[in-house]
Parts: sequence; C-alpha cells; structure tokens
Amino acid sequence: MTMDTPQVLGIDIGGTGIKGAIVDVETGALLCDRIRLPTPQPATPDDVTTEVVNLVDQTGWKGAIGCGFPSILQHGVVRLASNISQEWIGRNVPETFAAATGCDVSVINDADAAGLAEVRFGAAKGVRGVVLVVTLGTGIGSALFIDGKLVPNTEFGHLEIDGRSAERWAASVVREREGLSWKKWAKRVDDVLKRMEFYLSPDLIVVGGGASKRHDKFLPRLTVDTEVVPAKLRNAAGIVGAAASAL
Ligand code: BGC
Repeated sequence: MTMDTPQVLGIDIGGTGIKGAIVDVETGALLCDRIRLPTPQPATPDDVTTEVVNLVDQTGWKGAIGCGFPSILQHGVVRLASNISQEWIGRNVPETFAAATGCDVSVINDADAAGLAEVRFGAAKGVRGVVLVVTLGTGIGSALFIDGKLVPNTEFGHLEIDGRSAERWAASVVREREGLSWKKWAKRVDDVLKRMEFYLSPDLIVVGGGASKRHDKFLPRLTVDTEVVPAKLRNAAGIVGAAASAL
C-alpha cells in the first residue's frame, strides 16, 4: 500500500447491522478489520446517525465516506423505507451524516453498492450484457447492470408474488423467522428469481447478501434457466461497493 492508494471508508447500513471498513477503491481490498454494530431498532435517523458516528470514531477516519443505505435514494434523499424507520422519508442522507461526522459523505442504495462491487471486483467482473445482482438479507435488494453500467434503484425485491412483496416471502430473515428448511426456502427464492428472470432475461444472476455465505445450501436447488453464481465478495460487497461509488 502506498500513500497514493485511494482509500474511502465504506459503510453498509442494513436492516440488522451497520458494517464498515476502510477500502482500497482501486483493488476492492479491505484495509482494516470489518467493524459491525447492530442497527438500532427502530432505525430512526437520530439513532442510526449516532451509530455511524460511533463507527467512524472507531476507525479514526477523517477522509471520504461512501455509504450504502437500504432504501430508494434520489439525489441523496430517501424515497422509500421498508426495513428502517419511516422518519427517514424525505431526509437527505449524505447531508445528515456529513453534518454529524464532519466528513464528505456520498450515498447509494445498499444493493446497488453490493452489485457495483461484484461488477468491478467480483463475480460479474468483465461480464457484458444484462447482469442482475440480488441480495438476500433482512430485505431483498436488486441491482441491474447493462454492460457494466448500473441502472439505479430497481427494487425488484418488491415484485408481488401471490399477493405479497417478494421480500416478505423469501428474504433470509423469513427463513430464520419461520424456521424454514433450506429446501423450502430455496423453492421460495427460486419463485422470486424466476419472476425476475421472466421480466429481465438476464445473462447472469449474482446472489449476495447475508445468505450468500451459505450458498451451497440453496443455490444447487434452484431451477432458473439463467446461470446463478454466489457473490464473490460475500457480505463485504456492500462495504466495498459503497466505498467505490464515492470516487
Ligand atoms: C429496500 C431496498 C433495499 C433492500 C435490501 C428493501 O426493502 O426497499 O432499497 O435495497 O431492502 O436492503
């Protein structure tokens, strides 16, 4: 590592955890141990901001911050809040975190961040055509790429399956909460991916988020026609992509 290595503090704010690390944005490597703090419940703007400041303090970081956030964001402003407090709607996230930390902050949807990391450094590196990245965690996030270029805020985790939002049916937390077997949950994930496949005809699907650590338990059971691969950066993708999007 030289002094010129472009470094950014990547922070991935999820419905359950707030994770961060300093990232070399040229290589996607983490330059320190990952810090994980629980997401406050309810995840109000004040309480989440306090945890972001805690995380920044723990790293001693003074430079740029790239943040992944679990909602639709237009020009930094929250438009939808599914797994965080509704008080976020209409709030400008980069302005809120910049005022509290004194750092320059940029923000991107959390699934878009994870997708960006996979396209730049991971499972979808160099893949042309339509790539769909799906994150399975507290919610279901999606990131769509055409020849490596992101179409932001796609929100395919909210496609309706049998009258309910896909994420209420097949997110990772649903498997845990309902005590579903891997087989039963894989069938639900399969239904969701098939619906996405029908609408998008992707060339590749990358599955990330918390569940990607256990990909051997469910990916082999999927019957979608599209090639499905696990996220290469696993759960660090959100941190790395958030950092990479800041420069
Ligand atoms: C949100 C998305 C987010 C996904 C994963 C969904 O509930 O609407 O914006 O990407 O959860 O966190």
